[in-house]
Amino acid sequence: METRSSQAVVLRWRAYGESDKIVTFLTRDFGKITGIGKGARNSRRRFPNSLELLARVRVYFRQRSEANLAFLESCELLGPNSSLMEPERLAYGAYLAELAEQMTIDWNPVPETYDLLEEALLSLESGPATASFLRAYELKLLERSGFAPPLHECSRCQGPLAVDGDPHFGPLQGVFWCRRCASAARSTATDIGDFVVSSPLVARLRALREWPLERCRVEPFDAGREDAARLIGYLLSLHLIRPLKSLRLIEQLAHKQS
Ligand SMILES: [Zn+2]
Repeated sequence: METRSSQAVVLRWRAYGESDKIVTFLTRDFGKITGIGKGARNSRRRFPNSLELLARVRVYFRQRSEANLAFLESCELLGPNSSLMEPERLAYGAYLAELAEQMTIDWNPVPETYDLLEEALLSLESGPATASFLRAYELKLLERSGFAPPLHECSRCQGPLAVDGDPHFGPLQGVFWCRRCASAARSTATDIGDFVVSSPLVARLRALREWPLERCRVEPFDAGREDAARLIGYLLSLHLIRPLKSLRLIEQLAHKQS
């Protein structure tokens, strides 16, 4: 078995036995992998704090088959700096990692998704998670996973979204319609649960999906902020496999501060 290596981010880990760790990484070159670090809880030489949540690393491993756990040989620590260990940023970092984990599958490399997570964690090292930053990350992640709806045209008629009024969003389908197509969809089903989204908000979502994350992080988000969170929440919920644990942590921190 040859040794393979890749840049990676630690998505989660758990203790195994007396001294081992089972660790899940998002790697740039192999997609999501899970491996066992023998003696990892004691070996500072092979694993110098490099198997902690959100560690950016270069991991070296061997693998008999994709059905087996990888055997972790060593793991060089590349980051993060200590600012990411501040409780609120750590909680948001965990949120970014958990979303990336759920939107990726084992042994299926999507370098664009890896790059997005790395860019987001680096941005989070330089400042707090803002509403624009979080929504931008979510939209970009959906896009790179192939789940983002068109934001520039109606999903039904492919015409402009704002015709005779503001666009509509269908939360069950996760798409945008022009007003006419929303009425047509409603006439064929009893309740499609659609709601109106303002044109400026759709334009803002398009911008967040395109701008670099670091620019989004410092961009204020006032009008429509709650609507954006709700709408993207619907989009994410169509693709998440299980509830996000990190959200509970974020809520607890917010509760403590209020
Ligand atoms: Zn239409």
